[in-house]
Order: sequence, then structure tokens, then C-alpha cells
Amino acid sequence: MSALETIALNDFTRQWRTIAADATHAFTRVGESGWYILGKEVERFESALAASWTFKHAVGCANGLDAIEIGLRAMGLSQGQKVLTTPLSAFATTLAIVRAGGVPVFIDVDPTGSIDLRAAAAVLGSKPEIRFFVPVHLFGHPFDLDQLAELKTRFKLLVLEDCAQSIGATFRGRPAGSVGQCLATSFYPTKNLGCMGDGGALLTNEPTLSSAARTLRDYGQSEKYFHDQLGLNSRLDELQAAILQDALLPRLESWTARRSQIAAKYLAGIKNAQLKLITPIEGATSAWHLFPLLIQGGREAFQKHLRAYGVASAIHYPRLIPNQDALKRVPFEVIGPLTNAERFAASEVSIPIHPFLTDEEVDRVIAACNGWKG
Ligand SMILES: *Cc1c(COP(=O)(O)O)cnc(C)c1O
Repeated sequence: MSALETIALNDFTRQWRTIAADATHAFTRVGESGWYILGKEVERFESALAASWTFKHAVGCANGLDAIEIGLRAMGLSQGQKVLTTPLSAFATTLAIVRAGGVPVFIDVDPTGSIDLRAAAAVLGSKPEIRFFVPVHLFGHPFDLDQLAELKTRFKLLVLEDCAQSIGATFRGRPAGSVGQCLATSFYPTKNLGCMGDGGALLTNEPTLSSAARTLRDYGQSEKYFHDQLGLNSRLDELQAAILQDALLPRLESWTARRSQIAAKYLAGIKNAQLKLITPIEGATSAWHLFPLLIQGGREAFQKHLRAYGVASAIHYPRLIPNQDALKRVPFEVIGPLTNAERFAASEVSIPIHPFLTDEEVDRVIAACNGWKG
């Protein structure tokens, strides 16, 4: 086994070999332009991204965390207002809510790991003061957009969909993110559309949200040196935009197709009663950002077993957000037991699903999973 190269969760070396020529060309173009912040490259990428996601506006930001904060502030979230969200996500989802002045309200997830929309309906029915909702399309699996649309209308909600993991995912033909007033996404390198550094974007069809977000990302100025808001410095830079535009976005569709091909192999090939596969719901087409398993028995032993086969793995996420020390200093609420979320935190393991895996490597991951005795 020691001769085997470890199958990594992400393979940036292989990605670079694929994109090098286009990325280098983009780098040269930006260098020659002599313009590095908020110029033609960001504009061009914003248009291409918006069009590919069937939105009217995209606003490039410094990262996904800021895109969520900016989106919530653009929608008018003010200090102390409650925001319904999930306890099982990247910490950034909640951090953005807190930074925007919101008070996170956590409810449980359903058995697929997405926020439980039926529990959400019950909470929203009993707490009319909750007007904001930040659900997450976790693992790249979209949740039920029809149910979200129904909640949004019934409770007159302001919804920001966290699509950091779900670019390219659809539910009954509609893209993830298309129900909320806006969506936020991330170009952190490990994401499905990962750039060569940090980046993110806010997408919306509402011109007022788009222009508010443009102001907020640029020190809150609506015009040079005229500041309407206490904004951020959160701009996507020209270099990242150019690389995204030339080298990454044009390949996203084929990368997503490869991810779903690998997912299909895993779904057909992994047969082990000790491992529960988390699959997308009926009507959903996943972006397969991650391939999550729930492990019966010792999770650490399973990860060690994978390592012996030369397979890397990770946990998404080992500690629920309301249990993070950072939240001890801010107000938040937990409603109901978080039974399903606790189960994920205690037993989830993600196996490699990046688009550069070879068929031989996919087979090795399957063999490793099937060889686990629990
Ligand atoms: C990665 C991620 C974020 C944060 O994005 P950054 O660009 O790293 O700030 C937010 N939400 C989810 C669900 C994520 O996976």
C-alpha cells in the first residue's frame, strides 16, 4: 500500500495542469492592463456568472463570508433581528449573520443534513418576529425549492440562500439559489468553482439589492468619496475575476458532470451496511461538492482504514455551530433538539469526489469503503 499515492480530497496540482495556459493568459492580460481593482475583468466575470446562473446581477466580493453579510445588510437586516439558519454548515454562514448584526436562530436538519423545512414552518408560525432566513444547500445537494418558495410567501420572508457548495445544482430544473431575494456563493479554492485565492459573489434579480451590495463592498461609497453606509473592503480583484472567467467558469460544467459521474459510481459500487450514503432528494440534481457518508461504529477507525488504502477523508462538520466557543459571546437561540444535526457531527465522513479523480482511483475508494468491517 505504501507505494500508492494518496487520493486527496482536492487535487490542485492536476487542476493547475488543466488550466495553466488559460490562467497564465489571464494573468498576462491583467498585468498588461495596469488595472487591478474593480475594472473590466470583474464586470465581465460578473456578467458571465450571472448569465450562467440565470440571474440579472452578480456582485463580486472578497469571499463567501462577506457575500452573505453584504446580502443580509443589503436586504435591510438591522441590529438584533433574528435570522433562522442551520446548525450544520461552515461556520461562515453564522459568522456572516452575526457580523451583519443578526441573532441566529438554529433548528435541526433533516436526515439529508439540510435544514428541516417542516420544522422551519412550525418555528416561523410561532415566531412572527423572524423575518430573515439563511438556508444552506449543503454538500451540493439542493433542498426542496418549492417548499422554500411556499415558506417565503406564507411568512413574507427575506431569504438569502447560501450556495457556497451548490453552484450548478438544480431542483426540478430551477437552479439552487433562485427562490431567495439573493444568493451568496464562494470561490474558495476547494469549492466547485474555486479560484486561486479568496473570492465570492452575491447574485440577485433585484436591482436595488445589487446596487446596495456594490456600495457595501466598496467602503459603503455610492460615488467616489461619498459614503452612505459603513461598508466593507470586500472586492473581488481583477486577477481572480480574469482567471475565473478564462480558465475556471468555462470548465465548471464538465467538472460538475465528472463529479456526478463519480457520484454515480459510488452510489452503485459502495455496498456496506456500516455506511449510510447521503443522497440528493427526489427532483434534485446535486453539484456533488462533497460525498458524505454516515459511519456506524468508530468514525476514527474508519478514517484510519481509508488512510491504509491511501484515501484521504474529512469531517463536515465535527462541531455544530451553536456549540462553537465563539458563539458564547453573542446572543443566539436554539429551538428544539438538534438530533439529526448531532448525528452528522458525530458520524459524518466525506470521501474524495473532485473532478480530477481517475476511474482507477474511484475504484480504489469504493474498495476501501467496501472493505470496512465496522
Ligand atoms: C465555504 C463556505 C462559506 C464561506 O465562504 P468563504 O469564501 O470561505 O468565506 C459559507 N458557507 C458555506 C456553506 C461554505 O461552504
